[in-house]
Amino acid sequence: MALIKTAKDLQGLRASGGIAARVRNKLAEAVAPGVTTGELGEYARDLIEAEGAESAFLGYRGFPGVICVSVNEEVVHGIPGRRRIRLGDVVSIDVGVRYEGYVGDTATTVMVGVTDHDVVRLVRAAQSSLEAAVKMARARGRVSDISHAIEQTALAQGCSVVRKFVGHGIGRDMHEEPQVPNFGAKGRGPKLKAGMTLCLEPMLNLGNCDVEVLADGWTVVTRDRTCSAHFEHMVAVRNGEAEVLSVA
Ligand code: MG
Repeated sequence: MALIKTAKDLQGLRASGGIAARVRNKLAEAVAPGVTTGELGEYARDLIEAEGAESAFLGYRGFPGVICVSVNEEVVHGIPGRRRIRLGDVVSIDVGVRYEGYVGDTATTVMVGVTDHDVVRLVRAAQSSLEAAVKMARARGRVSDISHAIEQTALAQGCSVVRKFVGHGIGRDMHEEPQVPNFGAKGRGPKLKAGMTLCLEPMLNLGNCDVEVLADGWTVVTRDRTCSAHFEHMVAVRNGEAEVLSVA
C-alpha cells in the first residue's frame, strides 16, 4: 500500500487495531501460572473469531500459531504449545488480525508474579521505550528519531535492544514500508508524514542483544538466555501527537 493512508484506510486500520488490542488485553488477563501457551493460542482463536476477524499470523510464511507467545528468554515468534507458564515468568503476547482487508498488530508483555528486580526493570524499560517511540512518531520528524528514542530509553535502564527485528509500516499487508529499527542515530531515514501507519515494537534484553532461532524454525531466543520483553503499538502519524490505533 501507499505510505500515506487515505481516511478510509485509517478507518479500516482503526477497526483492525481495535480488535487486535481487545484480543491482546483479554489474553493478557488470561496469563497465569499453570496455563499453557497452547491454551492461550486456543483462547486467541476463539476471541479473534468472535470479533469476526482472522489471525494474520496463522500461515504467514508457514507460521503454525494463531498468535505468538514468547516466555522469558524467548524474544518473539514463540509458537503456542505445551510450555506451561510458571510464577516469575515474563510472557510476551503478540496478536495479529485481519479484518475487512486491514491488518492489526500489537503486543504486550505480562509479568506473572515477578519479584526479580532486574526483570521488572527490563519490562518497565521496554514499556517506556514504546511510550518514547510513540511520542516521536509525528510529522516532520524522521523514522530514526523513533529508533533513537527507543535505544536511549533502553540503554538508560541498562537493557540492550534487539537489532535483528524491527518495527514496520502496516496496512492491508502486515509488513509494509518503512522499516522502523529500534536503534540508531536520530535525524535519518524516511521523513514521517501525516497518514503513515506504523507498528512500533521495541524488543529489549536484560543481557546481550544477540538472538538466535530455535530448531522449530520460528522461536527467537536471546543467545545468552537472559530475559527479553516486547511491546508493540500500531500508530497513525499526524501533525501533532500520533494516534494509537491499537487501543481497545
Ligand atoms: Mg509487528
